[in-house]
Amino acid sequence: MSTSHVIVGDGIAGSSAAETIREQDPDADVTVITDEGETLYNRILIKEFAKGKLPEAPISIHEPEWYEERDIDLELNTHVTEVDTDAHEIRTHSGDVYGYDKLLIATGGTPAQLPVENSDADGIHHFWTFQDARNIREHADDSEQGIIVGAGLLGIDLAAVCAAQDIEANYLMRGNRWWRYALSEEGAEIIHDALEDHGVTPVFDSGVDHFEVDDDGHVEAAIDPNGERFDGDFCGIAIGLDFNTEWLQGSGIEVEDGVVVDEYMQTNVEDVYAAGDITEFHDTIIGEQAQNGAWGSAKEQGATAGKNMVADSEEDEFRWVSSYSITHFDFPFLSFGHPTIGDETAERKYNEGEWRRLAFKNGQLVGGVLIGDLSQQSRFKQLIREERQVADQKELLLEENVDLEKLESAPQAE
Ligand SMILES: Cc1cc2nc3c(=O)[nH]c(=O)nc-3n(C[C@H](O)[C@H](O)[C@H](O)COP(=O)(O)OP(=O)(O)OC[C@H]3O[C@@H](n4cnc5c(N)ncnc54)[C@H](O)[C@@H]3O)c2cc1C
Repeated sequence: MSTSHVIVGDGIAGSSAAETIREQDPDADVTVITDEGETLYNRILIKEFAKGKLPEAPISIHEPEWYEERDIDLELNTHVTEVDTDAHEIRTHSGDVYGYDKLLIATGGTPAQLPVENSDADGIHHFWTFQDARNIREHADDSEQGIIVGAGLLGIDLAAVCAAQDIEANYLMRGNRWWRYALSEEGAEIIHDALEDHGVTPVFDSGVDHFEVDDDGHVEAAIDPNGERFDGDFCGIAIGLDFNTEWLQGSGIEVEDGVVVDEYMQTNVEDVYAAGDITEFHDTIIGEQAQNGAWGSAKEQGATAGKNMVADSEEDEFRWVSSYSITHFDFPFLSFGHPTIGDETAERKYNEGEWRRLAFKNGQLVGGVLIGDLSQQSRFKQLIREERQVADQKELLLEENVDLEKLESAPQAE
């Protein structure tokens, strides 16, 4: 008898799992359910679309035929509302019930709302779906003044949209710098200068107390906690994700910051797996629970889950050093591993546009940020993977060209 696999979410994690399952088991029944109205597209590229730099076509990854050719049942515009893990069934918003032998949770997250007055006014955008990107592009085309909130990797995408669309914008940040959890002031200054060069003004120790709206309910200004007013009819907010776990309530599936899985992408409930942004997974490299919000990691987790769902065993282990790059400026930017954790850091500025910061935990390199020169990334990723004790050799790791042979023979993970 064929095994029935139900995958909730057609992002890169869900889609990669579906592809893997079909490759590993030609006879399996595979169903992918998504509440979006379109098949898998490249979420990374929607920012280029919103900037006005790309047409729609190259952003799509799978046409509906892709699923048909692989005999994968695809349900679009279908929101899953409930799972009964005893009965091995899920239920959708329209009351349809799907039975499963193996279930994959790949529902990712939804942008968090700012908990302030008028944060749902017209003209205020969040950025996650292709449809969001279409709305942003259309609005940005005829806007002149903008406000951006959220000093992280998605906030800067919205700032870049303003820059590309000639919207003069204020970028309101709560602390004294952009992405303060991963960058020092010295590193962040390179980003601040680049923003200014592109017509976006960073505003520090700010944020939003409330928004003001016009008579039609359209945003016209943000008032920050210091009482300062920033005019703008285009506003982009990116303050993090709320994971889409409502449908798991009462199911017995363990949810902490995300859905808790082991290194095989298995949840605490038999026959239920999770993959992608939504997971809080056991990171075998750092030896603790971790989260990644990155495309490559979600894809790999989907493939790992798919293999284990088919094998019905701990066939494949997720072991991955994540990375995330930003391509909005004249210089490259890459964060890798877990740049915001650790108990020690080392950093150096090499020239006006080149900077490096490394984060260590328990003597191991666990992540970092590279600005301007990415040439050493594979060496750093190798050190992370090998779990080498290198925190006492920071000077060597900060040399422009890192010679791994010169590192004292530090113990390597077995
Ligand atoms: C603008 C933007 C730029 C980005 N840039 C980068 C980058 O440069 N590099 C990088 O590595 N990462 C980047 N990311 C992050 C990356 O896109 C995500 O890490 C990745 O897409 C996560 O994939 P996922 O499959 O886990 O989740 P998602 O892509 O979020 O997919 C989850 C899917 O599940 C659906 N869903 C949710 N709940 C339900 C439900 N109850 N029923 C049915 N369907 C449901 C959702 O609608 C969605 O389609 C970017 C993200 C955005 C938005």
